[in-house]
Amino acid sequence: MRAIAVRPGIPGSVHAREVDRPSVDDVPGGRGVLVQTIRVGLCGTDQEIIEGRFGTPPAGDDFLVLGHESLGRVAAVGDAVHGELEPGTLVVATVRHAGASPYDRLGMYDFTTDPPLERGINRWHGFLSEYYLDTPEFLVPVPAGLAQVGVLLEPLSIVEKGLAQADEIQRRLRIWRPRRAAVTGAGTIGLLVTLSLRLRGVDVTVLSRRAPPYRNSDLVEALGATYLSTTDTTLAAASLAHGPFDLVFEASGHSPFAFEAVGALQANGIVVLSSVTGGAGRIEIDANAINQDLVLNNKVMIGTVNASRDDFIRGVDDMVQAETAYPGWLERLLTTPVHGLSDARAIVTALGDREAIKAYIVVDRASEGAR
Ligand code: BGC
Repeated sequence: MRAIAVRPGIPGSVHAREVDRPSVDDVPGGRGVLVQTIRVGLCGTDQEIIEGRFGTPPAGDDFLVLGHESLGRVAAVGDAVHGELEPGTLVVATVRHAGASPYDRLGMYDFTTDPPLERGINRWHGFLSEYYLDTPEFLVPVPAGLAQVGVLLEPLSIVEKGLAQADEIQRRLRIWRPRRAAVTGAGTIGLLVTLSLRLRGVDVTVLSRRAPPYRNSDLVEALGATYLSTTDTTLAAASLAHGPFDLVFEASGHSPFAFEAVGALQANGIVVLSSVTGGAGRIEIDANAINQDLVLNNKVMIGTVNASRDDFIRGVDDMVQAETAYPGWLERLLTTPVHGLSDARAIVTALGDREAIKAYIVVDRASEGAR
């Protein structure tokens, strides 16, 4: 079967190739699930992998099949899966698989302290092939009504985890209810954070570089949130005008925001950092002031990566709610389709498209046409 792969560490090595089609019998104990891939989303992490700055091949291979944002349909299941998951069901797979750390043993593989096993990223082939094989524990059923937008579930799971972690930590305050939030970055993650917060009734201010109006600022405003360009304002000024914020969610990839965010917070507030920023990025900061602000105001700063199966399930709930509260909004994020698995260069072009919000690959054209 056809797949798209890279040789990790080698820039420009993205290529189409033939790989063996897996079978449910490859998983012992009848627990295999063969999934036919429908769509695969692309993100900044794929770009880093394609540029040779991130990613590890599976042991024994010199290539890595790309793709960690999936949507597929169960094609076949092993004997021990019947009753749990049936052929025909739409599914999205989690990215991480369990390692051996105590957290993995508790089912919290998104908190593993081992080198992570991440499909399409680290040490495990991804979903950018006609079929992939998994087990039911790592597959999340998606209602047929979300077929058009289900490929956004993995990025949404990242958002769900970040917000769930903030809630979990803020239980220290007993009565914490965020009312005002700032989101830095208006890419897919920033937009999905804004959506999730708006669904929770939070007042949201989004800061991003580009001057409005454009597609992303329109999407922010369609949710009843405020879009500000950092060419006109700063996080500190936005905090005076629209804050102070109970929560700042950093999703821009501009790491200085991590430190500016502390000052934009309300006392007891929390900053959630979600950008994977590769390479060096040195800046000068007033370490005393930031430290003192964190201390004297009981502020929190957390990093968050990956997501658990529960976060994916919460994402499904939010998607269902979003389709009612903001019909058609999620679909507007799917701006840039690439058709088929034969042209690896088309993926590079789509990722480089500055007007794109979410580039994605239509792997199974037949089931796309059937809808
Ligand atoms: C993925 C996460 C992954 C992280 C680091 C992100 O793009 O969505 O699942 O853990 O990259 O590899």
